[in-house]
Amino acid sequence: MALRKLVAGNWKMNGTRAALAELGAIADAAAGAPSLDVAICPPFTLIDAAIAQAPSLPIGAQDCHHAEKGAHTGCISATMIADLGATYVIVGHSERRADQSETDADVQTKAWAVLAAGLTAILCVGETEAERDAGKAGMVVSGQMQGSVPPAGTADNLVIAYEPVWAIGTGRTPSVRDVAEMHGLIRAKLDELLGEEGPRVRILYGGSVKPDNAAELMAVPNVDGALVGGASLTAALFVPIIEATA
Ligand code: PGA
Repeated sequence: MALRKLVAGNWKMNGTRAALAELGAIADAAAGAPSLDVAICPPFTLIDAAIAQAPSLPIGAQDCHHAEKGAHTGCISATMIADLGATYVIVGHSERRADQSETDADVQTKAWAVLAAGLTAILCVGETEAERDAGKAGMVVSGQMQGSVPPAGTADNLVIAYEPVWAIGTGRTPSVRDVAEMHGLIRAKLDELLGEEGPRVRILYGGSVKPDNAAELMAVPNVDGALVGGASLTAALFVPIIEATA
């Protein structure tokens, strides 16, 4: 089934207010590609201003706390993100799984919170290089799916992003064959976990997506879009990726 593609930018811990100047050209490119969805996930500090600057462009966050509110100094809830008018929240990015020791169970509770706030979770999975070398990539990703996908996930509130850890920020990407194999496995797991919603949930590829490899990666079966890090920081790189996907 051909699903409507989503190209989402993950700015990570990059960008002060000056970076919002990139959003105009990105919003224009999104408007020129009505067959796909485009989103930018800036740091929390820029969400409000990004929505004001580019009202037509869906904006997301990169994380949230699992609780709605309370005594969690320094944390941000999905409810607060929804209150700003955002659309997406990335959960379970490998940098948070590694740096903040987030477990599959943590990621699942965060995904629940995103759904409960009426937002769409972009839930990340992916193996390390050592796990791939050991022939365990499929097992690892399947286990992450089992432990972190919320059973209430639907095509409207859940997107999966397959991001091999060794491909993030390295300029390396898996072969088209390996991407097809992993996305097929993720699709089968979604069918198992979510029943009839499984075939409709989008599966993004992430990890060193650039203007020169986007068209090839986006043509792989079961690749329903991209989660883009470094190349989403400037319109000069992100717009060609949008155009290659459209
Ligand atoms: P990258 O990051 O495109 O810079 O490799 C992708 C991501 O971590 O989401």
